[in-house]
Amino acid sequence: MRVVISGIPGVGKSTILDSVSKKVDYKIINFGSLMFDIAKKEGLVNSRDDIRKLNIELQKNIQKFTSNVLGKMDNIIIDTHMSIKSPYGYLPGLPEWVLNELNVSSFFLIESKPDEIRERRKNDETRLRDDDTLDDIKEHQEINRYYAAAYSIYSGATVNFIDNPEGNPEIAADNIVMRLNHATK
Ligand code: AMP
Ligand code: MG
Repeated sequence: MRVVISGIPGVGKSTILDSVSKKVDYKIINFGSLMFDIAKKEGLVNSRDDIRKLNIELQKNIQKFTSNVLGKMDNIIIDTHMSIKSPYGYLPGLPEWVLNELNVSSFFLIESKPDEIRERRKNDETRLRDDDTLDDIKEHQEINRYYAAAYSIYSGATVNFIDNPEGNPEIAADNIVMRLNHATK
């Protein structure tokens, strides 16, 4: 089984996934890391935050290549994005050719309050986060719900919206673990 876990940058996805990985048998694969390895090897980027600024056709080519690799792996949780906020507009993380390749059973979308996300981004020195306003963050989270619904309708996969309350990522992690266990019963 393959599932997708997503959430906008700063939502706390990595923290939650660390906790989830200790409690389930799935291997967690970061889509962006695979894309980064490819783009880095080609000399196109220096950091993972450069990927979304690349020419769109190039991003789509690397995305496609990455989905071909993932399509051959089973029992994985794919850490990725419903949509990527690029300078050219929102880029779907799972366009039709990616969905067909991945055959996902369930989508998870982690969400938090916009002000909490903004604070977490400010405190994360490891990434070059966009300086989005609260309205930008709200819009991106809304867009991701629309994209999740579209992916679900297209593929028949279920969708789960997971709240990540401030200071307690374990609640979100346990909620995901419970749903994953349920799905494999
Ligand atoms: P992340 O560390 O999850 O933010 O991933 C790093 C970067 O990889 C993102 O900012 C995107 O540019 C790119 N990326 C990740 N997943 C996808 C995807 N499904 N489609 C296109 N680009 C992606
Ligand atoms: Mg992350």
